[in-house]
Amino acid sequence: MNEKLLEIKDSAIRQIKEASNLSALNDVRVAFLGKKGELTAVLKSMKDVKPEDRPKVGQMVNEARKQIETILEETKVKLEKEALDIKLKEEVIDVTLPAKKKKVGHSHPNTLVLNEVERIFTGMGYEVVEGPEIEEDYYNFEALNIPANHPAKDEQDTFYINDKILLRTQTSPVQVRVMERQKPPIRMIAPGRVFRADEVDATHSPSFHQIEGMVIDKNVTFSDLKGTLTKFVRQMFGDDTKVKFRPHHFPFTEPSAEMDISCFKCGGKGCRFCKGEGWIEILGCGMVHPKVLKMSGIDPNEYQGFAFGVGLERITLLKYEIDDMRLLYENDDRFLEQF
Ligand SMILES: [Zn+2]
Repeated sequence: MNEKLLEIKDSAIRQIKEASNLSALNDVRVAFLGKKGELTAVLKSMKDVKPEDRPKVGQMVNEARKQIETILEETKVKLEKEALDIKLKEEVIDVTLPAKKKKVGHSHPNTLVLNEVERIFTGMGYEVVEGPEIEEDYYNFEALNIPANHPAKDEQDTFYINDKILLRTQTSPVQVRVMERQKPPIRMIAPGRVFRADEVDATHSPSFHQIEGMVIDKNVTFSDLKGTLTKFVRQMFGDDTKVKFRPHHFPFTEPSAEMDISCFKCGGKGCRFCKGEGWIEILGCGMVHPKVLKMSGIDPNEYQGFAFGVGLERITLLKYEIDDMRLLYENDDRFLEQF
Protein backbone atom coordinates (compact mmCIF):
# COMPACT_ATOMS: atom_id res chain seq x y z
CA MET A 1 0.00 0.00 0.00
CA ASN A 2 2.77 2.38 0.98
CA GLU A 3 4.54 1.70 -2.29
CA LYS A 4 1.43 2.30 -4.28
CA LEU A 5 0.89 5.65 -2.55
CA LEU A 6 4.49 6.67 -3.21
CA GLU A 7 4.02 5.76 -6.86
CA ILE A 8 0.87 7.84 -7.10
CA LYS A 9 2.55 10.75 -5.36
CA ASP A 10 5.60 10.66 -7.63
CA SER A 11 3.45 10.39 -10.70
CA ALA A 12 1.35 13.34 -9.55
CA ILE A 13 4.37 15.52 -8.83
CA ARG A 14 5.90 14.68 -12.18
CA GLN A 15 2.73 15.54 -14.03
CA ILE A 16 2.30 18.74 -12.05
CA LYS A 17 5.79 19.83 -13.04
CA GLU A 18 5.02 19.03 -16.65
CA ALA A 19 1.83 21.08 -16.71
CA SER A 20 2.60 24.14 -18.81
CA ASN A 21 -0.62 26.07 -18.16
CA LEU A 22 -3.49 26.39 -15.69
CA SER A 23 -5.84 24.20 -17.66
CA ALA A 24 -3.32 21.33 -17.84
CA LEU A 25 -2.69 21.74 -14.12
CA ASN A 26 -6.39 21.44 -13.42
CA ASP A 27 -6.50 18.20 -15.43
CA VAL A 28 -3.78 16.79 -13.18
CA ARG A 29 -5.71 17.82 -10.07
CA VAL A 30 -8.84 16.04 -11.33
CA ALA A 31 -6.85 12.94 -12.32
CA PHE A 32 -5.49 12.48 -8.80
CA LEU A 33 -7.76 14.25 -6.36
CA GLY A 34 -11.05 14.31 -8.25
CA LYS A 35 -14.05 12.08 -7.50
CA LYS A 36 -12.69 9.45 -9.84
CA GLY A 37 -9.06 10.34 -9.20
CA GLU A 38 -6.32 7.86 -8.34
CA LEU A 39 -5.91 8.92 -4.73
CA THR A 40 -9.65 8.88 -4.21
CA ALA A 41 -9.67 5.34 -5.56
CA VAL A 42 -7.18 4.37 -2.88
CA LEU A 43 -9.47 5.76 -0.20
CA LYS A 44 -12.34 3.79 -1.69
CA SER A 45 -10.33 0.61 -1.51
CA MET A 46 -9.86 1.06 2.26
CA LYS A 47 -12.53 -1.55 2.83
CA ASP A 48 -10.03 -4.19 1.63
CA VAL A 49 -7.49 -3.08 4.24
CA LYS A 50 -7.39 -4.86 7.51
CA PRO A 51 -9.30 -2.88 10.17
CA GLU A 52 -6.27 -2.49 12.43
CA ASP A 53 -4.24 -1.01 9.54
CA ARG A 54 -6.90 1.41 8.42
CA PRO A 55 -5.91 4.41 10.63
CA LYS A 56 -2.33 4.18 9.43
CA VAL A 57 -3.27 3.83 5.77
CA GLY A 58 -5.75 6.67 6.14
CA GLN A 59 -3.04 8.88 7.56
CA MET A 60 -0.70 8.00 4.71
CA VAL A 61 -3.34 8.78 2.12
CA ASN A 62 -4.03 12.12 3.78
CA GLU A 63 -0.35 13.00 3.89
CA ALA A 64 0.05 12.15 0.22
CA ARG A 65 -3.01 14.21 -0.56
CA LYS A 66 -1.67 17.15 1.43
CA GLN A 67 1.69 17.02 -0.34
CA ILE A 68 0.07 16.85 -3.75
CA GLU A 69 -2.23 19.75 -2.87
CA THR A 70 0.66 21.90 -1.66
CA ILE A 71 2.62 21.38 -4.85
CA LEU A 72 -0.52 21.94 -6.91
CA GLU A 73 -1.12 25.27 -5.15
CA GLU A 74 2.48 26.44 -5.54
CA THR A 75 2.44 25.56 -9.23
CA LYS A 76 -0.89 27.27 -9.69
CA VAL A 77 0.43 30.52 -8.22
CA LYS A 78 3.49 30.30 -10.42
CA LEU A 79 1.49 29.64 -13.59
CA GLU A 80 -0.96 32.44 -12.78
CA LYS A 81 1.90 34.89 -12.40
CA GLU A 82 3.34 33.76 -15.72
CA ALA A 83 -0.04 34.17 -17.42
CA LEU A 84 -0.38 37.67 -15.97
CA ASP A 85 3.11 38.63 -17.10
CA ILE A 86 2.29 37.52 -20.63
CA LYS A 87 -0.99 39.42 -20.58
CA LEU A 88 0.67 42.59 -19.32
CA LYS A 89 3.32 42.31 -21.99
CA GLU A 90 0.70 41.89 -24.69
CA GLU A 91 -1.43 44.77 -23.48
CA VAL A 92 1.34 47.24 -22.92
CA ILE A 93 0.30 50.78 -23.89
CA ASP A 94 2.52 52.78 -26.14
CA VAL A 95 2.38 56.17 -24.47
CA THR A 96 4.25 57.75 -27.36
CA LEU A 97 1.31 57.22 -29.75
CA PRO A 98 -0.44 60.51 -30.53
CA ALA A 99 -3.84 60.82 -28.80
CA LYS A 100 -7.08 60.76 -30.77
CA LYS A 101 -8.29 64.32 -31.17
CA LYS A 102 -11.70 64.84 -29.68
CA LYS A 103 -13.81 67.45 -31.40
CA VAL A 104 -15.15 69.89 -28.88
CA GLY A 105 -18.47 71.43 -29.82
CA HIS A 106 -19.56 74.97 -29.11
CA SER A 107 -22.67 77.10 -29.23
CA HIS A 108 -24.51 77.72 -32.47
CA PRO A 109 -24.47 81.40 -33.58
CA ASN A 110 -28.23 81.58 -32.90
CA THR A 111 -27.59 80.41 -29.34
CA LEU A 112 -24.77 82.92 -28.87
CA VAL A 113 -27.08 85.76 -29.91
CA LEU A 114 -29.98 84.47 -27.84
CA ASN A 115 -27.73 84.27 -24.77
CA GLU A 116 -26.72 87.87 -25.36
CA VAL A 117 -30.34 89.05 -25.78
CA GLU A 118 -31.34 87.20 -22.60
CA ARG A 119 -28.40 88.70 -20.75
CA ILE A 120 -29.41 92.23 -21.77
CA PHE A 121 -33.08 91.85 -20.85
CA THR A 122 -32.64 89.90 -17.63
CA GLY A 123 -30.24 92.71 -16.70
CA MET A 124 -33.23 95.06 -17.01
CA GLY A 125 -35.35 92.86 -14.77
CA TYR A 126 -37.10 90.80 -17.43
CA GLU A 127 -38.11 87.21 -16.92
CA VAL A 128 -37.45 84.62 -19.67
CA VAL A 129 -40.57 82.53 -20.31
CA GLU A 130 -41.53 79.81 -22.76
CA GLY A 131 -44.75 78.76 -24.41
CA PRO A 132 -45.94 75.80 -26.47
CA GLU A 133 -44.88 75.44 -30.12
CA ILE A 134 -48.12 73.60 -30.86
CA GLU A 135 -50.61 76.29 -30.03
CA GLU A 136 -54.33 76.91 -29.97
CA ASP A 137 -55.75 79.09 -32.70
CA TYR A 138 -57.20 81.27 -29.93
CA TYR A 139 -53.80 82.19 -28.47
CA ASN A 140 -52.00 82.51 -31.80
CA PHE A 141 -54.64 84.76 -33.41
CA GLU A 142 -57.90 85.60 -31.69
CA ALA A 143 -56.56 86.71 -28.32
CA LEU A 144 -54.09 88.88 -30.22
CA ASN A 145 -56.91 90.76 -31.92
CA ILE A 146 -56.54 88.84 -35.17
CA PRO A 147 -60.12 87.94 -36.14
CA ALA A 148 -61.15 84.91 -38.18
CA ASN A 149 -61.17 86.74 -41.53
CA HIS A 150 -57.72 88.28 -41.10
CA PRO A 151 -55.26 87.54 -43.94
CA ALA A 152 -52.61 86.43 -41.40
CA LYS A 153 -54.80 83.42 -40.68
CA ASP A 154 -54.55 82.24 -44.27
CA GLU A 155 -53.94 78.52 -44.50
CA GLN A 156 -51.29 79.33 -47.08
CA ASP A 157 -49.15 80.81 -44.30
CA THR A 158 -50.00 78.67 -41.32
CA PHE A 159 -49.49 74.97 -40.54
CA TYR A 160 -52.86 73.92 -39.19
CA ILE A 161 -53.14 70.62 -37.33
CA ASN A 162 -56.91 70.97 -37.18
CA ASP A 163 -59.43 73.83 -36.97
CA LYS A 164 -58.31 74.82 -33.50
CA ILE A 165 -54.69 73.66 -33.23
CA LEU A 166 -51.73 74.92 -35.23
CA LEU A 167 -47.97 75.37 -35.16
CA ARG A 168 -47.55 78.87 -33.74
CA THR A 169 -46.64 81.45 -36.38
CA GLN A 170 -45.23 83.88 -33.81
CA THR A 171 -44.12 83.98 -30.17
CA SER A 172 -46.81 86.56 -29.33
CA PRO A 173 -49.26 83.95 -27.94
CA VAL A 174 -46.87 83.63 -24.97
CA GLN A 175 -47.82 87.23 -24.06
CA VAL A 176 -51.44 86.17 -23.68
CA ARG A 177 -50.58 83.05 -21.70
CA VAL A 178 -48.46 85.11 -19.29
CA MET A 179 -51.11 87.84 -18.89
CA GLU A 180 -53.74 85.19 -18.13
CA ARG A 181 -51.79 83.66 -15.27
CA GLN A 182 -49.75 86.54 -13.91
CA LYS A 183 -50.83 89.84 -12.43
CA PRO A 184 -48.97 92.98 -13.55
CA PRO A 185 -46.31 94.23 -13.28
CA ILE A 186 -45.03 91.93 -16.03
CA ARG A 187 -41.64 92.12 -17.68
CA MET A 188 -40.96 89.17 -19.92
CA ILE A 189 -39.19 87.98 -23.00
CA ALA A 190 -40.27 84.78 -24.72
CA PRO A 191 -37.78 83.31 -27.15
CA GLY A 192 -38.82 80.33 -29.22
CA ARG A 193 -39.32 78.52 -32.48
CA VAL A 194 -42.10 79.58 -34.83
CA PHE A 195 -43.45 78.07 -38.04
CA ARG A 196 -44.71 79.46 -41.32
CA ALA A 197 -45.55 77.77 -44.59
CA ASP A 198 -42.66 79.44 -46.41
CA GLU A 199 -40.40 78.03 -49.08
CA VAL A 200 -36.74 77.84 -48.07
CA ASP A 201 -34.55 80.55 -49.55
CA ALA A 202 -31.82 82.95 -48.41
CA THR A 203 -34.21 84.92 -46.21
CA HIS A 204 -37.04 82.45 -45.47
CA SER A 205 -37.44 79.17 -43.65
CA PRO A 206 -40.56 77.24 -42.58
CA SER A 207 -39.12 77.20 -39.07
CA PHE A 208 -37.24 80.04 -37.44
CA HIS A 209 -37.03 81.83 -34.08
CA GLN A 210 -38.54 84.93 -32.57
CA ILE A 211 -38.03 86.73 -29.32
CA GLU A 212 -41.15 88.31 -27.95
CA GLY A 213 -40.96 90.98 -25.30
CA MET A 214 -43.66 92.58 -23.19
CA VAL A 215 -43.99 94.98 -20.28
CA ILE A 216 -47.30 95.59 -18.49
CA ASP A 217 -47.46 98.04 -15.61
CA LYS A 218 -49.08 101.28 -14.49
CA ASN A 219 -48.15 104.45 -16.41
CA VAL A 220 -46.18 102.69 -19.12
CA THR A 221 -45.75 104.98 -22.13
CA PHE A 222 -44.31 104.88 -25.61
CA SER A 223 -41.19 106.61 -24.30
CA ASP A 224 -40.56 103.59 -22.04
CA LEU A 225 -40.72 101.44 -25.15
CA LYS A 226 -38.28 103.70 -27.00
CA GLY A 227 -35.87 103.90 -24.09
CA THR A 228 -35.88 100.16 -23.50
CA LEU A 229 -35.38 99.17 -27.12
CA THR A 230 -32.71 101.84 -27.65
CA LYS A 231 -30.80 100.45 -24.68
CA PHE A 232 -31.19 96.96 -26.09
CA VAL A 233 -29.82 97.74 -29.58
CA ARG A 234 -26.98 99.84 -28.19
CA GLN A 235 -25.85 96.92 -26.03
CA MET A 236 -26.26 94.58 -28.99
CA PHE A 237 -24.74 96.67 -31.80
CA GLY A 238 -22.71 99.35 -30.07
CA ASP A 239 -23.16 102.57 -28.10
CA ASP A 240 -23.21 104.77 -31.22
CA THR A 241 -26.27 103.03 -32.65
CA LYS A 242 -29.04 105.48 -33.57
CA VAL A 243 -32.67 104.40 -33.70
CA LYS A 244 -35.64 105.39 -35.83
CA PHE A 245 -39.28 104.45 -35.36
CA ARG A 246 -41.57 104.26 -38.39
CA PRO A 247 -45.35 104.02 -37.93
CA HIS A 248 -46.64 100.57 -38.80
CA HIS A 249 -49.66 98.35 -38.21
CA PHE A 250 -49.93 95.24 -36.06
CA PRO A 251 -53.33 93.98 -34.92
CA PHE A 252 -52.19 93.50 -31.29
CA THR A 253 -50.51 96.86 -30.71
CA GLU A 254 -51.73 100.45 -31.06
CA PRO A 255 -49.86 102.58 -31.95
CA SER A 256 -47.39 100.28 -33.69
CA ALA A 257 -43.97 100.93 -35.14
CA GLU A 258 -41.09 99.33 -36.92
CA MET A 259 -37.73 100.12 -35.50
CA ASP A 260 -34.64 100.78 -37.60
CA ILE A 261 -31.09 101.10 -36.38
CA SER A 262 -28.28 103.05 -37.99
CA CYS A 263 -26.03 100.77 -40.03
CA PHE A 264 -23.26 99.56 -37.73
CA LYS A 265 -21.00 98.98 -40.75
CA CYS A 266 -21.01 102.50 -42.18
CA GLY A 267 -22.41 104.41 -39.23
CA GLY A 268 -25.34 105.63 -41.35
CA LYS A 269 -23.50 106.99 -44.40
CA GLY A 270 -24.80 104.21 -46.61
CA CYS A 271 -22.94 101.11 -47.73
CA ARG A 272 -23.52 97.79 -49.48
CA PHE A 273 -24.44 96.17 -46.18
CA CYS A 274 -27.39 98.56 -45.63
CA LYS A 275 -28.07 98.79 -49.37
CA GLY A 276 -27.11 102.45 -49.30
CA GLU A 277 -29.88 103.29 -46.84
CA GLY A 278 -27.77 103.93 -43.76
CA TRP A 279 -30.56 102.22 -41.77
CA ILE A 280 -31.38 98.58 -41.05
CA GLU A 281 -34.84 97.35 -40.11
CA ILE A 282 -34.58 95.43 -36.86
CA LEU A 283 -37.91 94.77 -35.14
CA GLY A 284 -41.62 95.48 -34.75
CA CYS A 285 -43.12 97.01 -31.61
CA GLY A 286 -45.99 99.00 -30.18
CA MET A 287 -48.23 99.70 -27.21
CA VAL A 288 -50.28 96.62 -26.29
CA HIS A 289 -53.76 97.05 -27.77
CA PRO A 290 -56.40 97.73 -25.06
CA LYS A 291 -58.54 94.95 -26.57
CA VAL A 292 -55.69 92.46 -26.08
CA LEU A 293 -55.31 93.53 -22.45
CA LYS A 294 -59.05 93.23 -21.86
CA MET A 295 -59.26 89.76 -23.46
CA SER A 296 -56.52 88.55 -21.13
CA GLY A 297 -58.32 89.92 -18.07
CA ILE A 298 -56.26 93.09 -17.53
CA ASP A 299 -58.03 96.43 -17.16
CA PRO A 300 -56.63 98.79 -19.85
CA ASN A 301 -57.71 101.80 -17.80
CA GLU A 302 -55.43 100.73 -15.00
CA TYR A 303 -52.56 99.13 -16.89
CA GLN A 304 -50.70 99.82 -20.10
CA GLY A 305 -47.87 98.05 -21.74
CA PHE A 306 -45.60 97.73 -24.71
CA ALA A 307 -44.54 94.73 -26.72
CA PHE A 308 -41.98 93.93 -29.34
CA GLY A 309 -40.99 91.02 -31.50
CA VAL A 310 -37.62 90.43 -33.06
CA GLY A 311 -36.41 87.66 -35.32
CA LEU A 312 -33.49 85.85 -33.70
CA GLU A 313 -32.05 84.88 -37.08
CA ARG A 314 -32.36 88.49 -38.23
CA ILE A 315 -30.02 89.63 -35.44
CA THR A 316 -27.69 86.68 -35.92
CA LEU A 317 -27.37 87.34 -39.66
CA LEU A 318 -26.72 91.03 -39.02
CA LYS A 319 -24.32 90.59 -36.15
CA TYR A 320 -22.16 88.00 -37.89
CA GLU A 321 -22.69 89.45 -41.39
CA ILE A 322 -24.07 86.20 -42.77
CA ASP A 323 -25.87 86.67 -46.08
CA ASP A 324 -27.83 83.41 -46.29
CA MET A 325 -30.17 82.18 -43.57
CA ARG A 326 -29.91 78.58 -44.79
CA LEU A 327 -26.33 78.43 -43.46
CA LEU A 328 -27.74 78.55 -39.93
CA TYR A 329 -29.64 75.29 -40.38
CA GLU A 330 -27.40 73.19 -42.60
CA ASN A 331 -25.07 72.04 -39.81
CA ASP A 332 -22.05 72.41 -42.03
CA ASP A 333 -18.99 72.13 -39.77
CA ARG A 334 -16.94 74.41 -41.99
CA PHE A 335 -19.48 77.17 -41.40
CA LEU A 336 -20.21 76.54 -37.74
CA GLU A 337 -16.53 76.30 -36.77
CA GLN A 338 -16.18 80.04 -37.42
CA PHE A 339 -18.15 81.10 -34.35
ZN1 LIG B 1 -24.27 100.76 -44.06
